[in-house]
Amino acid sequence: ESKSLGKNKHTFFTEGIKDKVNEQQFIETSMHKAITNNEFSLVYQPRITVDDYGLDGFEALLRWNHPEKGNVPPNMFIPVAEKNLQILDIGRWVLDAACQKIQSWVSDGLQNFRVSINVSTVQLHRADLYTEIANALSKYKISGQYLEIEITETAILKDEKSAIKKLEHIKTLGVRISVDDFGTGYSSLSKLRSLPIDVLKIDQSFMADISDDIQAADVLGGIIELAKRLGLTTVAEGVELSAQHDVLISQHCDQAQGYFYAKPLLENVADGYVQECIGKVAQQHTPHKTNE
Ligand code: C2E
Ligand code: MG
Ligand code: MG
Ligand code: MG
Repeated sequence: ESKSLGKNKHTFFTEGIKDKVNEQQFIETSMHKAITNNEFSLVYQPRITVDDYGLDGFEALLRWNHPEKGNVPPNMFIPVAEKNLQILDIGRWVLDAACQKIQSWVSDGLQNFRVSINVSTVQLHRADLYTEIANALSKYKISGQYLEIEITETAILKDEKSAIKKLEHIKTLGVRISVDDFGTGYSSLSKLRSLPIDVLKIDQSFMADISDDIQAADVLGGIIELAKRLGLTTVAEGVELSAQHDVLISQHCDQAQGYFYAKPLLENVADGYVQECIGKVAQQHTPHKTNE
């Protein structure tokens, strides 16, 4: 992550732009040019296997580097983009960039991994997401097994029947579906049973609770156990402390993400991380190789 991110996060809109309306207008106007001006990029946060710290894949997270304002956090501009439907173009850009990255890692020799992208409610309901994904996969000649889409429970439940149909269609491409930020919406675990999903990402607020509440570990354990019974892969978000990691081991959580393992990585840093992983795997498979 660039150093300017933290610095600009809080000062961004206090520098001359006074009220919310102007702030939104400013974002809206400059967002129009962001794609063509190459101001967007993706960072990649490793998702690891809790048991052995192995790499399962990466979550691609969008970054907007504004020429004057520096980094604008997604939580600030995505809601605006959803409102004015620019998220449809932005979402296509994210999908394309992620698939291009997948292609490059596959050709590097990375195996059995996936990259997840975040998909907004608006994309699910207003875009032809199936066709967009199918086109992106064929453009880069990659299998759908490398791609996962993250959707919040609220997005699915907004127009449940239609969402289920769309997600089922997308799944025929081999793409996996995960529920992002689980536990923050209104849906229950039993609701999940009727959804065509593969992965449950447990919201980072559950991790935060573990630090100061003994029962929180049991609550987390209950979610993990039920999710597993539904055949879902469980992923804990926002793991920052080794004590939280220990709880994930004891509660048998499959995978995790968080600063404890790795921050979201700039593309070239993620490339290096991938090279390291490929090297490790190669070593394991050639145990008799000597250093000559
Ligand atoms: P999310 O999908 O739940 O992503 C996880 C967020 O938590 C990311 O924030 C990530 O940088 C942050 N994070 C990761 N590990 C830790 C940790 O250990 N502690 C803490 N406190 N935070 C951690 P980020 O990148 O600012 O993204 C925020 C949200 O913006 C995302 O939440 C997602 O909802 C949305 N977003 C990001 N990229 C995209 C995108 O390409 N498309 C759409 N539609 N939404 C996106
Ligand atoms: Mg996500
Ligand atoms: Mg999340
Ligand atoms: Mg979130």
